[in-house]
Amino acid sequence: MNDLRVPWRYQGREMMAIAGINSVAKWLAKNKRRSDVGCRLCKRAREQRGASTENLPEETYGHINSTFCDGMTTTVTVVHHFIWKHLYASMQAAQTPTSKLRFVTPEKECGMNTLWQEEVFEQICSRESLTENAAELEKTISVKQHEREQHDFDPKIFYENSFWNRRPDGRVINQNHRILYILEFKWSSDRNEDFLVVKEYEANVQQKSIIEALTEWMWEQINFVAGEEDTLGVFRLG
Ligand SMILES: [Zn+2]
Repeated sequence: MNDLRVPWRYQGREMMAIAGINSVAKWLAKNKRRSDVGCRLCKRAREQRGASTENLPEETYGHINSTFCDGMTTTVTVVHHFIWKHLYASMQAAQTPTSKLRFVTPEKECGMNTLWQEEVFEQICSRESLTENAAELEKTISVKQHEREQHDFDPKIFYENSFWNRRPDGRVINQNHRILYILEFKWSSDRNEDFLVVKEYEANVQQKSIIEALTEWMWEQINFVAGEEDTLGVFRLG
């Protein structure tokens, strides 16, 4: 910052980063340097696939760092997986030889469907009875707007699929104690003080049907919530 050889525009950018300011459209509009708060990344992504650029979401810091931003979905997802892979591997590496925990498929995301093809799970509870329990529980989770059409077409199939397509970030089995741990990782903007509570709630709702559907074993959900500001610094065990 004190090096005069560094061009001013770079120093300016660094100062903004330190001050927690991002030149997103919302901020620029507040400072009268832009009239439109619509997200420029969403606009570009929609233009590329020939979709309408009407009703663009507001370009806020939280938006461009979330999967809700059309232009950022892939990047945000890749970052999420990258950080999670690192965390998961560290947990595995910390196991002692006497540990009874078995970490399942850390290298790729896999849905409940794939998981239940493993013999150990089929032994815990048959696919049929789990489907039945889970579909009941899925009904209590609100249907998202973009899923509405599918839901109305065939609600029964919709709830069954919702369950079998659920993809917890990690699963750890303790066969001795008959416990299955569902691990969920949330990477989010931590600008708002309540982000831990909000993300924790989201993670719980997301995996609610998994946790409650299986009564033969104990299921336990462990949430990891990391803030973007110092990504690997702020985890919390839920
Ligand atoms: Zn966007």
